Amino acid sequence: MEQTLSIIKPDAVAKNVVGKILSRFEDAGLRIAATKKIQLSQADAEAFYAIHAERPFFKDLVEFMISGPVVVTVLEGDSAMSKNRDLMGATNPAEAEAGTIRADFAESIDANAVHGSDSVENAVNEISFFFAQREIN
Ligand code: ATP
Ligand code: MG
Repeated sequence: MEQTLSIIKPDAVAKNVVGKILSRFEDAGLRIAATKKIQLSQADAEAFYAIHAERPFFKDLVEFMISGPVVVTVLEGDSAMSKNRDLMGATNPAEAEAGTIRADFAESIDANAVHGSDSVENAVNEISFFFAQREIN
């Protein structure tokens, strides 16, 4: 069964919509195989987003991701990676389709409510970044 990693970002955690976002995953047929609320360190955020290290927004992205706790979740189901990306909507909430998580809960391209793995290969790496095997059930 395919797995993918979701992060509910600090803006959405601060808005108290964690349950609403997790419900969207479940309502779409994805199963929560693991979940936890954590405070990322600067080193965590820099390592997680290392692929964006050269981008002009990298510093702001890292600062935002450590501005408060996040909820990391392993989602499981048929086509879990692409299904989660569909539920999330476009990176810029102004361009996100109506009814998507970012359209409904995000304010800006920086504070955009959720992260989702963008390939099955990256999902495997991102899941092992956050979870030990015994935490995934
Ligand atoms: P994520 O990786 O968080 O799921 P994404 O895959 O939709 O988002 P990426 O291109 O991987 O988008 O960018 C990672 C994050 O960096 C985005 O979620 C966003 O918060 C931020 N970001 C991306 N592009 C920009 C930009 N042009 N200006 C500011 N922030 C940006
Ligand atoms: Mg991405």
